[in-house]
Amino acid sequence: MSSNEQAQRAAAERSGRARILVVEDNPLNRLLLHDILELRGHEVIEASNVDEALPLLDAARLDLLLLDVQIPGGGGEAVVKEVRKRAALADLPIVAVTSLAMPGDRERLLSSGFQGYLSKPIDTRTFGPTVEAFLRAEVRRAR
Ligand code: MN
Repeated sequence: MSSNEQAQRAAAERSGRARILVVEDNPLNRLLLHDILELRGHEVIEASNVDEALPLLDAARLDLLLLDVQIPGGGGEAVVKEVRKRAALADLPIVAVTSLAMPGDRERLLSSGFQGYLSKPIDTRTFGPTVEAFLRAEVRRAR
């Protein structure tokens, strides 16, 4: 194992092994997110559209939802709406992963139920630590 890999595993251990649902319709982006998160020790579950994502909300004990805003079947906001109907998921952090970059997009997402916002293209160096910061924020809320 390279020292870089060792450092990444150590970082994942500090924030704990998390189960993360990635909803993204672009296969290359989905693979990239999967590889970054898995290398850091997390368990990644994948969906490519709203219809695939909804059953996973109920089936998997999720620690974090990473959601592309532009996905088939109603968009990321349709998934957020379903999460908010489920009391068991009241503390699930939802982070948008999107290339939306118009003025006001960030504010609109944050006011529609997303806790955070990561912009595409993905910065492979900062993506993992940023996701883990959202995981730690969830741990603090649960205490
Ligand atoms: Mn998309």
